[in-house]
Amino acid sequence: MVGSVPVGAGAPVSVQSMTCTRTGDADATLAQVRALVGAGCELVRVSLPTAEEAPAFARIVREAPALPQGGAGGPAGAPVPIIADIHYDWRLALAAIEAGAAAIRINPGTMAEKHVREIVRAAAEARVPAGLSSDATEGSSDTAGSGGEAGAAEVPVAIRIGVNAGSLPKDLRDKAGREPAEALVEAALRWATQFDEWGFAAYKLSVKSSSVPATIAAYRLLAESTDAPLHVGVTEAGTLWGGTIKSAVGIGALLAEGIGDTIRVSLTGDPGEEIRVAWKILAALGLRRRGPDVISCPTCGRTEVDIVALAEEVERRLGSDPELAARQITVAVMGCRVNGPEEARHADYGIAAGAGEGWLFDHGERVEALPEGQLVDALLALVRGSAA
Ligand code: SF4
Repeated sequence: MVGSVPVGAGAPVSVQSMTCTRTGDADATLAQVRALVGAGCELVRVSLPTAEEAPAFARIVREAPALPQGGAGGPAGAPVPIIADIHYDWRLALAAIEAGAAAIRINPGTMAEKHVREIVRAAAEARVPAGLSSDATEGSSDTAGSGGEAGAAEVPVAIRIGVNAGSLPKDLRDKAGREPAEALVEAALRWATQFDEWGFAAYKLSVKSSSVPATIAAYRLLAESTDAPLHVGVTEAGTLWGGTIKSAVGIGALLAEGIGDTIRVSLTGDPGEEIRVAWKILAALGLRRRGPDVISCPTCGRTEVDIVALAEEVERRLGSDPELAARQITVAVMGCRVNGPEEARHADYGIAAGAGEGWLFDHGERVEALPEGQLVDALLALVRGSAA
């Protein structure tokens, strides 16, 4: 568990992101946390760069919004777990635990071992609300942070051991040049073994890289070597366009092999986009769904309406209407009457366009033919009507 959210041991792959506001500005950060949760984020990481920001961090934890009903497999109404992102200064990790963080992310390779020990001791002793009923914990007793406490109302603070190439132990640095994935994994496993020896089970591991092949190789190797929950992502993936592709390939390849328990898409931009991309990756693999899935054809020489504009409008309006955005439906927007009707029939709802007009489909049944300008309104009315 990470707070109220099960991670690992067969729990649904959870979606996380990180705020990019200044943590000391609690109002702005809370607004971003709320926006992220609204977009489907289930775990939110917040950096704690200085001790001066600890009170703001504590307020962010206290006022964190609730996850929606059924979100992340956790109980309705549980606050979204806040994960503290800590670099270098072990005392900030203690401050984050003191402030009520559900988990902390550290790179233990950047700290003295005795200080990592202090963090682990504090995390083991602290308790954060899991808000669980015995039903909600069913099947999740080995998940990260559970410490074997399924059914408990509180769990220890979880720790992510986040290893990266820049902070490997001296004896692995040469190896990193020859075998980067092996070196990263060995560093992560050394810390995992150390945490085990300290009797702390509530950890998960990450071995991210900005290289997609290196990320895939490292996580494959790691998954062969441990049963610990894995946080998967391609780090510093880039801007919305390029980063989405790198993340979809890297994270998607691993998830398709059953590797990964929680994912973070890392994009330079609005973190809300990270959440939308993450859900698209999960939906594309058939692992989880959130909201409508719009299928649209690539268009070709047969297209006689502006199918690009139609598809974009359908996707935008479905996504911006809170009621429709929550529906698990498939909507097809197809450009012609050659292949369109067949695809539209297989979706829950569909449009198969013709010359300046199109047919509406409702669960495989042709409903009516309408002029191009009326198609989207009629489609949305159809979707809305069926929800009543
Ligand atoms: Fe072309 Fe029709 Fe296929 Fe769209 S559905 S790509 S318009 S053949």
